[in-house]
Amino acid sequence: MIEFKQIDKDYSVGDQTIKALHDINFQIETQKLTIILGPSGSGKSTLLNILGGMDRPTRGTVQFNEQNVAALNDHELTNYRRNLVGFVFQFYNLIPSLTALENVAIAAQLTKNDANSLKYLKQVGLEQRLDNFPNQMSGGEMQRVSIARALAKQPQLLLCDEPTGALDSRTSLKIMKILQDVAKTTDTAVVVVTHNPDFEQYGDQVIRLRDGQVESISQNDNPVVIE
Ligand code: ADP
Ligand code: ADP
Repeated sequence: MIEFKQIDKDYSVGDQTIKALHDINFQIETQKLTIILGPSGSGKSTLLNILGGMDRPTRGTVQFNEQNVAALNDHELTNYRRNLVGFVFQFYNLIPSLTALENVAIAAQLTKNDANSLKYLKQVGLEQRLDNFPNQMSGGEMQRVSIARALAKQPQLLLCDEPTGALDSRTSLKIMKILQDVAKTTDTAVVVVTHNPDFEQYGDQVIRLRDGQVESISQNDNPVVIE
């Protein structure tokens, strides 16, 4: 569905060039959970920013179905980001003055899918918390709202940046289970960036980055299914 072909990303800092990504090649497929692992500074955020249309590579092609995302103009890139990609962040990024249902409804309205907010909160098991504000929910609940909000856009691609980084291990596993279910049961491809090597076993594909390069890519035909 998405293919990175010979992607480089350089940053200029003063008269220095930082090679944040160098010769990155991989594919992201529908019905699959891709885990991206790597130490701090290895290029994970840069890679996610390019996948999500927040930034463009310096060189290379990002083939998304028939189009090269790397070659889109600003307006087209905004449409790509808005209509095709859902985002889940470490610290949820919910709007504090809106309830769980309202947080999801706002995203649904943007993509004219506003009748279905409830459906997405049910999908993440939060039908009991519709009228709660973020400060009345646990971290795990807030993350579930943020997943429901992302799903309400019916994205082709769900990008999760350290989605369990602020959660205890039990809650983290519940969040990973939801993401695994989304990958398996919908047409949304799921990408999870994490520091946590324990999560490797849950991915259909694991990409390891080091110093801006791909250290390894493994395909896992029998990932551990979270109960
Ligand atoms: P983490 O991957 O641990 O969440 P970050 O992605 O925020 O951390 O940052 C990783 C490294 O990249 C850090 O050393 C940080 O200083 C550097 N970095 C991140 N963003 C920028 C930036 N905009 N300008 C310069 N350096 C940055
Ligand atoms: P990670 O998310 O794995 O921590 P990043 O993608 O944030 O890694 O960073 C990769 C490299 O690029 C690091 O050396 C970082 O310092 C550098 N970097 C990231 N963003 C910027 C930026 N905006 N300007 C300059 N250097 C950056």
